[in-house]
Amino acid sequence: MPALISRFSKLTAVLLIVILVMSASDGAAQESGPTPVFESMFGESSRIVDLTYTINDRSPYWPGDNYEPFELKTIATLEEDGVLSKTFCMPEHLGTHIDAPNHFEANRIPVDQIPPEQLIGPGVVIDIETRAEQDADTMLSLEDLEEWEQQHGVIPGGAIVLLHTGWGRHWENIPRYQNRDARGQMHFPSYSPEAAEFLVEERKVRGIGVDNLSIDRGLSRDFEVHHIVNKAGRFGLENVAKLDELPPRGFWLIVSPIKIEDGSGGPARIWAVVPGDEDAKD
Ligand SMILES: [Zn+2]
Repeated sequence: MPALISRFSKLTAVLLIVILVMSASDGAAQESGPTPVFESMFGESSRIVDLTYTINDRSPYWPGDNYEPFELKTIATLEEDGVLSKTFCMPEHLGTHIDAPNHFEANRIPVDQIPPEQLIGPGVVIDIETRAEQDADTMLSLEDLEEWEQQHGVIPGGAIVLLHTGWGRHWENIPRYQNRDARGQMHFPSYSPEAAEFLVEERKVRGIGVDNLSIDRGLSRDFEVHHIVNKAGRFGLENVAKLDELPPRGFWLIVSPIKIEDGSGGPARIWAVVPGDEDAKD
């Protein structure tokens, strides 16, 4: 008998919840499941591309003094503590990350003070992969930008520009990704100072990013591109993943960096929202 009562009361409780949920909905053509926020915000045929690498102790990082690989340590377990919890330690500039304006210039804002509206903008991808395959020291030139604009139109003001060098295919092979020669000199492509200057000054971009270790090419010693970008109060994005899945323009970028007080940068989750044909407005 008690079992029957308890079964009855369980059934009553389930029914009550169902009635409550139904009356909470507006009663119209409300589908079950969560409200389709993404579709409502961006249109039904849009897709989202996560441009962020998973961080682990195999993630490539800048081979400078005091730079260490990512480290993760378990400090509590479900078995012993009833909760799973970990600590991590990493350089700010490891994995997919942002370079804040204070990274290379004095009196510029740190990562926690970059206004959110600077972290969302129209995305642009410029492809130099074919040339980079032949020449690891190549740089994005003014001619490349001119050619891109002839094909795709003027780079929109406030864009976040991403340079596709094809380096992402080496991500899981640190020596190949760093591509150091016998003297330890790295070789990978990136922006020329002239192209960076043009993007910052003439096209007023919010920031520039690349699919490898640096917005200055591997050969650079003076980090001129970093200085140009940071002096203008703009940010850089490095080790950006999956650029081969993006169109040259006509999509949005959302950059979501960790908010470290006075940080010179930090790991960032970066998403592209790519409208489908029906939702494309660009
Ligand atoms: Zn960096």
